Formats: sequence, structure tokens, C-alpha cells
Amino acid sequence: MTTEAHALSQLKALVAHGPRFHGTETMAAAAAWLESELVAMGHSVRREPVSLPGWHPGTVRRVRVTAPVDRVLPAWPMLWSAGTGAASVDGVVRGRLEVLGPEGIWGDSIVWQRFGVRDEAGRIAAVVHARDDGPAAPQPLPAGSDDRIAHLAVGHLDGLQLAEWVADHDDVRIEVELDSEPRERSVSDNLIVEVPGSGPVQAGTVVACGHLDSFYNTLGAYDNGSGSIALLELARIWVSEPPTRPVRIVWFTAEEWHLLGSRHHVEQLTDADRDAIDFVLNIDGLGRGDLLETFVGPERFGFAVRDAVRAHAAATARTLTTVDRFPPTRGTDDASFHAAGIPSVFLTFNDLHRLHQPEDLPDPGIARNIAWTVPLARSIVETMPRPRRTAAPGLL
Ligand SMILES: [Zn+2]
Repeated sequence: MTTEAHALSQLKALVAHGPRFHGTETMAAAAAWLESELVAMGHSVRREPVSLPGWHPGTVRRVRVTAPVDRVLPAWPMLWSAGTGAASVDGVVRGRLEVLGPEGIWGDSIVWQRFGVRDEAGRIAAVVHARDDGPAAPQPLPAGSDDRIAHLAVGHLDGLQLAEWVADHDDVRIEVELDSEPRERSVSDNLIVEVPGSGPVQAGTVVACGHLDSFYNTLGAYDNGSGSIALLELARIWVSEPPTRPVRIVWFTAEEWHLLGSRHHVEQLTDADRDAIDFVLNIDGLGRGDLLETFVGPERFGFAVRDAVRAHAAATARTLTTVDRFPPTRGTDDASFHAAGIPSVFLTFNDLHRLHQPEDLPDPGIARNIAWTVPLARSIVETMPRPRRTAAPGLL
């Protein structure tokens, strides 16, 4: 059994290494710690290197409105954003703000608003992104974004204020400064543990996964230290009580970089490997509250997972607000499997005021949800029959 106190101490030990941003030394240190914990349990760990176009967030980041009022807005560089150095003489882009329109993040999983900064030469020389809800938080830039100009994210309310100023004044002035820059390549590893099953040899495999990496600006206790520790707890339980079917546990890197860790993993699989996977359970973000979201595909499999969640909540006298979203969105690692036609479950206690924030720190509420989720995840992995596969509309 996983106690809340044990989950909290493990979570603190994981995040003590620093932000787990893909390609960094602190990410490597956290992965080494995780590997040593698994080896001490008796597991062997396979590493799968993931190399991708690198990027450094820099240290200067500023969005300042200078008219109709003077106000600095909290802002974060979007992942892969260029700095402002190339688009201006002194490194600061100044101009007039205009509304560009909506922007799909992670496909159309969430919809933000975009604003352009038009400089004296009449060019759009920077983009300000406003979040759909909550404080300013960075996300990776959508594919096709202009890689020569700066892109900064501000919070939801600041976005509404900007839109109102633009509607009321024809000359909203803004300054943007950013020193983010690309790096040629950046490498971290997926960590993989194969747990043999105690049941019939012909049983398929379940992949239980979560991402180990975090955004650059956070220790990522909830996103996704929590899921990483839940998987570590499952690995510990399955040493003394082997699962009924083989389980592959994977801690992915680069989830925050367009799912490139899990996409790389799925690309390496043969058709036979993919067919041998009964389904994937992705645990990403066990935040502090009582809002449990599940995204499951195919639909019939979602009904079975819904019943399993309800039964576990009833058995533990837990009152939850649940959201079952269908079809699954494209913002987490299960999407890499779903796109390949593999049935998938995504579980999260959503905590949008901590998502990609420096305040995403270890918390008893997170530990509580890790301890609550581990037996649910174990039951889903060990008891769910292989779902019937159907084509995923628009993804296959
Ligand atoms: Zn995450």
C-alpha cells in the first residue's frame, strides 16, 4: 500500500534535483535517481535516448504595455520561441498591439488568443499569447509558428484586458524583450522497465506511462512528478505481487516538447509490437483537488474506465467531480499511442493554477491523490480486458 506520507517523501526526493527540463543536467540527475530506485527494487532499466531540436529559455523576459496605461504583465516565453534580438536594433520590440485571433494549443485541446505587435516598419515583430484560463503559463509553440520572432504567453485576465484596450483605443502600445534562443540538439532518455506477468503467457502487454520531464520554470511536482512517483510505486508493488499480465512501465522525456519522447517511442515499435499492446494507461498530473479528468478511446473502453473510477471512488468514500472527455485530446503522451490506433486511458487531477508555474511544489493534496490513484491504476492495468480496437477518427 502506498501511504500519503511515503508518496510525499518520494515526490520531494524526485523534485530535489531541480527542474526536469528535457536536455538539462538536472533532468539527467532526476533520471539517475529514478533508475537507482528501480534497480534497488530489482528491476532492470532500459534507456531510450530522445534527440530533438534544442532551445534555451534565456533569462530576460518582459511584456510591458506603455499606452493607454503603463503596466508590466507577467509573461513566459513559449517553448522554441526566438528572442527579440533579430527583430530590433536594441533587442526590444516596440509597437502597436492588434488582435490576431484564436490559436489551437496541442491541436485544438485548448484555445488561446493571439495578439501581434506591429513595429514602426509595419511588420508583426512579436506575438503575445493569452491563456484560456489561469495565470501566465508557457506551452510549446504550435508547428508552423514563425521561428524568427518572439512569442510570449500572458495570463487569461491580462489577455481580456489587452483585448478590451484594443477595442477601446486605436493605439495600444507595447514593448517586448526576450533572450530565448535555439540550441542545435538536446538529448534526454525515456526510461523503460519490463515487468513480467504472472498470468497466461499469451496475455497482451499493458503500457503504464507518464512523463518525467517538466517545463523550464518549475520543479513540476504535480506536472508530472506525481505521475512519475505513482509509476514508481506500481513498480515497487509489482516486485512482491507480480501483475496478472506483462506490464511495460515507461517514464517519458520531452512530453512538454510536443510529446516527442512518446512519439519517438511509438515510432520505434513494429506493427507486431503495437498489436501486442492491449492498451496504454497514462498518468499525467495528479494535482491537489477533487477534479478527476479521464480521456479514453475507443468509446466503449471509456465506459469501462468510467465504471472502474466510480467503483474506486465509492470504495474509498471519495467525492469527486469527474469529467470524461471523448475523443482523447492531443496534449499528453497517450495521444502518441492513440494516433497509432492503440487504446488509451489518460488520468489527471487537473490543477490549472499550478500548471507550468514555479508554485508547482510538493503538497499533501498531491500526495493524497498519488496514494488514491495507485490502486486504481493497478486495478485498471490488471483487470481490464483487451479493448476492441476501432479507428480513431481524424487520427488514423
Ligand atoms: Zn504533464
